Amino acid sequence: MVGARAVRAASESDSPRRLYDRIGEFLVNQRLDPDPGNYAFAYHLLANPEGPLARAVHALTDGGVRLTQRDIETLGCDLRPAQNGKGAKEKADGLVAQTQMQVEGFQDMVTAIRAETEDFGRDLAASAEAISRSTDAGGAIAIDEVARITAAMIERVHSTEAQLARATCEASELREKLEEARDNARRDPLTDLPNRRALEEAYAAQAASGTQICVAVCDVDHFKSVNDRFGHAVGDRVLKAIAEALGQTCAGHLVARYGGEEFAVLFTGVDLRTARDILDTARVTVATKRYRLRESDAPLGEITFSAGIAPAAAGEGLSTVFHRADRLLYAAKTAGRNCLHIG
Ligand code: GH3
Ligand code: MG
Ligand code: MG
Repeated sequence: MVGARAVRAASESDSPRRLYDRIGEFLVNQRLDPDPGNYAFAYHLLANPEGPLARAVHALTDGGVRLTQRDIETLGCDLRPAQNGKGAKEKADGLVAQTQMQVEGFQDMVTAIRAETEDFGRDLAASAEAISRSTDAGGAIAIDEVARITAAMIERVHSTEAQLARATCEASELREKLEEARDNARRDPLTDLPNRRALEEAYAAQAASGTQICVAVCDVDHFKSVNDRFGHAVGDRVLKAIAEALGQTCAGHLVARYGGEEFAVLFTGVDLRTARDILDTARVTVATKRYRLRESDAPLGEITFSAGIAPAAAGEGLSTVFHRADRLLYAAKTAGRNCLHIG
């Protein structure tokens, strides 16, 4: 009785150790970080070598291809902390790491494909030689040998095709993610408007093309008092409403949330007076709208903004024009708010 228990205890203490070593080997071979998610993945995989996860991994790595982090996520064993709620920096870092891993995966695949092509060439040569040998030997072609070589060649072609198809699919998924990340980095999440970075890039592109440019800086009047009286969430809704009004009225020009309760408009291809007229329409729209609390329908009172608009001189950078527009905005504030000043 005691002896049997001891044997069981010994084998139990033996196998976790082996499992642990195999997990380590697996992570090293697959060039995966030993983070908790990858470790858990390897554990599930190796603890149940006949299970569905093992079969899926085998299908993926059959051609000698290494697993990517994306494979692990797709196979549903990513136990790392959820990325939701993580900052944009962490998300971007994750994408960079994923891209690096995929590039490495591509390099490995190209090497593997090159090796297969060489094998393929050798097989073809062997096949040709087999045909010529058998012909020399009296015309009886060694069909079996040629068939075997051909089958091996076909198998290689199929395996290469499968690897390429999988890589293409991964690359297009990654491209979509990168495009999404690129777009997110240039968009303000509250209003969905382009952000300051997008404004800077758009200005640089327009200035380089020689287009006529006017920059407007708009600032909500006494916005702090909206937050103080009704709370930050109501303040946020007001910002969204102003963003929408600006976006609609200034359609065709780039409206950006510059920061806080400040918006900027990049007017292109119009003169200063036209830009002023367009923005004044937005000002009147915002000022005449009746804002009400969603919950009680109580009025919020008048919401207005002030703005300064300055034309860009040839070769001028955004910060210089913006500074002039900002001074004009300050003048509009001093003049009583809810008005535009042009320079
Ligand atoms: P002024 O007419 O001189 O511009 O007065 P103001 O109250 O609008 O200016 P101030 O700079 O004193 O206050 C700006 C306020 O905008 C303070 C800040 O809490 C608020 N704010 C900035 N960003 C946000 C935001 O994203 N959401 C909300 N709800 N409030 C914001
Ligand atoms: Mg402000
Ligand atoms: Mg303000």
